[in-house]
Amino acid sequence: MSSEFDIIRRYFTRPTHRAILGIGDDAALIPYTATADLAISTDTLVSDQHFFADTDPGKLGHKALAVNLSDMAAMGAIPRWVTLALTLPANLANRNSSWLEVFMDGFFTLASKYEVELIGGDTTCGPLNISVHIIGEVAKGKALKRSGAMPGDDIWLSGYLGNAALALAHLQQRITLKPDELTVCLAALDAPVARIELGQRLINLAHSAIDISDGLLADLGHILECSQVAATIHLGKIACSGVMQRYLPLSVAVDCLLAGGDDYELCFTAPVIKRSEIAQLSQELSIPLTRIGTISQGKGLFLLDVNDNTITHEKKGYDHFLT
Ligand code: ADP
Ligand code: MG
Repeated sequence: MSSEFDIIRRYFTRPTHRAILGIGDDAALIPYTATADLAISTDTLVSDQHFFADTDPGKLGHKALAVNLSDMAAMGAIPRWVTLALTLPANLANRNSSWLEVFMDGFFTLASKYEVELIGGDTTCGPLNISVHIIGEVAKGKALKRSGAMPGDDIWLSGYLGNAALALAHLQQRITLKPDELTVCLAALDAPVARIELGQRLINLAHSAIDISDGLLADLGHILECSQVAATIHLGKIACSGVMQRYLPLSVAVDCLLAGGDDYELCFTAPVIKRSEIAQLSQELSIPLTRIGTISQGKGLFLLDVNDNTITHEKKGYDHFLT
């Protein structure tokens, strides 16, 4: 079976001539004005694949936009415009159904927070599928890319990983969370917060960045591949939420932490000289920013336990075609 990324490489990746950056990053980049580039990205949510069909529509509206905002954050871009392609089962579009109203309320509430404008889309009838295309602006030549990591860079993470995956594990009966823990984890799953301001503030600080949508190991792996470098990360240095701390070192919890996905936190690399500025930024934005490891020359992602022993973790992240 081919992986999602084998498919992308084999069938879609072609040289680009008028883009600054094509396939392979969180967004493509094209020239816009004398001082700005455009960052462009698409993300789709498929019923029963990315969400349960009975998910609250307001939360879905929020999430459909949030996951796209997250790709703008990963590029350091200011989100500006979106289009929305909706495929809807007929019953949800029925006049007696409030589904669309509640869905768009969730969507527009988040859009207005960032002054993002809905400028087009497509509406069709069929199994529920939500696709958002987003366009943002970024200072010319300044976008954060997956390809900029340098040997010696620190590897940083924003926020806490794994809570969304813990909620999913609970819903799939792979773990049983207490009611208050479930509330916390469901909030992470249903209402992710894109790190828009952080992304923009990392320009001139970070060498590379990615948002964690598929799992830390998989997504950091993309930085390593694009930058042609290796990394060592320390399991014990990854900041954990209170709930996560309670369930580690259960293997299902370690999976959620390292390879769960749906986190929408930023993983970025930055030179050692920027440590104090990044610590200051963390204070200013009230977002935990934690150093979890180092970039080095070579190839591979090495994971160390609290005693600095190398450990292997088979599951790297979510892949639509391998999972
Ligand atoms: P992300 O997780 O940041 O949304 P993906 O992992 O989904 O990014 O995609 C990796 C790269 O492959 C991105 O640059 C994306 O634009 C590109 N890509 C994915 N699917 C296609 C496709 N069908 N055609 C062209 N490019 C694609
Ligand atoms: Mg992304």
